[in-house]
Amino acid sequence: MKVGLFPGSFDPFHNGHLEIVERASHLFDEVVVAALRNPQKSSPLFDLEERQAMLEQVVSHLPSVRIVSVSTLLVNVARDVGALAIVRGLRAVSDFEAEMQMAQMNNHLSGVETIFIPTSPERSFLASKLVREVWRFGGDVSDFVPKVVAEHLAAKYEQRRQSQKGDEE
Ligand code: ADP
Repeated sequence: MKVGLFPGSFDPFHNGHLEIVERASHLFDEVVVAALRNPQKSSPLFDLEERQAMLEQVVSHLPSVRIVSVSTLLVNVARDVGALAIVRGLRAVSDFEAEMQMAQMNNHLSGVETIFIPTSPERSFLASKLVREVWRFGGDVSDFVPKVVAEHLAAKYEQRRQSQKGDEE
């Protein structure tokens, strides 16, 4: 069975990510989406458990896709799930340098291959960081993320607003 591993922080998961998962599911018998705890990103918007729960809802229409959440070295996850290759999306040349370096490191560590799927032009501007920025200032992010994620973002925004109000009182 050919397994593809699609790792990312997915904080939050957006439509660019979804496109890559859907396209990877045509190439592999199974796609494992791994939500990673990124030690370089100290305070995530959603904790790992929330991200995993959301992802499970978002890919429920794709029977060959499974979600895991991990805070270990990616090559260990690739070995554990029996991945034929790590899948990464490429938006623009600016992604290339870091992705190339990571792919070479992972290949050196374990021999695992990385394949890149170029995003469609309509989604190449999408990035979790930008979605978070628009959300933080109350902007409408519903065009950029799956419905389930938009609902979680709205709930989180309300929660944050209430707690800020509480602080002011
Ligand atoms: P990381 O912090 O590990 O880069 P991200 O959640 O930002 O995690 O991204 C996970 C993967 O999704 C990466 O391969 C990234 O290049 C890809 N990706 C991010 N945004 C897009 C997009 N708009 N279109 C296609 N792929 C994307």
